[in-house]
Amino acid sequence: MPKRSAAKPSRPASAPASTKAGTPAKRPRATTAPQRPPAGRAAAAAARTAPAASTPPHLPSAAAIAEALSRWFTTARRPLPWRTGYHTRDISPANPAPSAASTPSAPCRDPWVALMAEAMLQQTQVSRVIEYLDRFTARFPTPASMAAAPESEVTAMWSGLGYYRRARNLRACAIAIVEHHGGSVPHTVSDLLTLPGIGRYTAGAISSIVFGQPEPIVDGNVARVLLRIGGMPLDPQACTTTDLLWHHAADLAAAARSPGLTNEALMELGAICCTPRSPSCIICPLRPHCRAAADGTQDQIPAAKKTSARPQIRCTVLVITNPAGELLLQQRPASGLWANMWQSPTHESPAAAPGSTPPADPAAVLAALNLKPQAHLKHIRPAGTFTHQTTHRELLFSVSTLALPRTIPAPTAPSTTRWLAATDLPTLGISNAAKKAITLATSRPRTS
Ligand code: SF4
Repeated sequence: MPKRSAAKPSRPASAPASTKAGTPAKRPRATTAPQRPPAGRAAAAAARTAPAASTPPHLPSAAAIAEALSRWFTTARRPLPWRTGYHTRDISPANPAPSAASTPSAPCRDPWVALMAEAMLQQTQVSRVIEYLDRFTARFPTPASMAAAPESEVTAMWSGLGYYRRARNLRACAIAIVEHHGGSVPHTVSDLLTLPGIGRYTAGAISSIVFGQPEPIVDGNVARVLLRIGGMPLDPQACTTTDLLWHHAADLAAAARSPGLTNEALMELGAICCTPRSPSCIICPLRPHCRAAADGTQDQIPAAKKTSARPQIRCTVLVITNPAGELLLQQRPASGLWANMWQSPTHESPAAAPGSTPPADPAAVLAALNLKPQAHLKHIRPAGTFTHQTTHRELLFSVSTLALPRTIPAPTAPSTTRWLAATDLPTLGISNAAKKAITLATSRPRTS
C-alpha cells in the first residue's frame, strides 16, 4: 500500500478495480441500518477461518460512515497545495461531484497535477512533496511538456525525493497519456491502470477524487481505519485482508454522495486522527461506528507485521578528484537500483551470509577504473561510513577520498564516466546516498 503522510505503509499490489475494461465493478449500495460486526477477536477468527472463495461481508453503516467522513473533512482537512492550489471547481458535501460510473464529472482539480502529486506521495512524506510539486508544475504544466523533456531532466529535478523509478514511470506515464489519450489524463480505473507505474490505489484515487467516480481506494492509512472500525486485528498485507479491505472501501465509495470526498476524508482521517499510535478517538467522527474504540483494542490493530532481515550490501565509494577540483562520476546501469543515476565510483559487494558484513574494497574500485591499485592505495584516505536503507536492502557505505596528482582519461566502460565540476551536480540525477557520500568526502580537510 502506498506510503502517505503519518503512516509508513507499503503499496498495495496492482490489480484492476473493474470487472472488465471501462466497466467499473457494480456493487450493491450498503444499508444505513447495519448489524453490529462481531467483536474484535471473534471477527479476526472469523476472517482467518473464512473459506478463501467466500465473498467478504459488506461494511456495516457504509452510508453513515461516508457522510460522517465527508462532513468532518470539510472542516478538518489540511490545506495541502494539491487540494487548494490547482482546483478547477469547488467540491464539498454541498457541491458533491456526480457519481455516475460511465460519465466523468468535470474534474474538480487539475488531473495532471493530481497524478504528479500521487506519484510523489508514494513513499514520501507530505512536507517533502510540497517542496517539489510547485517546481514540477511550473516546469511540466501538462503531460505533453514532460513527455517532451529528456528523462535525465526529470530525474535531476526529482533528486532528493528518492525512489527514482517513480520519476521514470511518471515520464513514461506522460508519454503514454500523449500517445494514447490525446494528452489528457483518463478518468476510468481501467484506462488509468494501463499507464506505467499506476497501480490500483493511484487509479482509484485519480478516478474518484479528481473525476468523482465511485471507485474505492486503499492505502496504509485507509487500511488501518477500516480494520479498526471493524475491530479486526489482521495483517493488512495478507491477501485475504487486502480483499476484505478493498471490498469495504468499495462499499464506502458506492454508498457515498461524493466518493472522492469520502475517499480523501478516509485517508486524511488515517493521517491525522486515526494514527498508528495514540489515535485521537475522542474527536473522531467515526467513533460511534468503531468497534476498536468500543473494545479498547486500537493499539492491537492492525496486527504487527513480521519483519525479515534485509540483505546487506557493502558499497565502497571512492570520491576521486583531480588538480582542477573536478569529481570523477559514473552513471549507474539503466536498470536496477538508482538506474541511470550518477555517483562517485562505487564497488558493491553483497554479504556472503545473513548477518555477515563484507569488508570495504577500494582496490576493486580502482581496478574497475583501470587504475593500478599498488600505485594509488597508499593515497586513499577514509572519509567515513553510513548506512542507507531501501525497501529491500541495507546498504553499508564506506567512503574514501583519492586526490589524483593529474587527470586521468575518464573510462567509458563498463559505465559512462566523466570528470565534472561541483557546479554540474545539480543538473544530474544523483541519489541521496550518492550525495551524502560526496558531501562526506568533500567536507573533510585534505591530509595530503
Ligand atoms: S474511533 Fe479511534 S480507532 Fe476508531 S477510527 Fe476513530 S480514531 Fe480510529
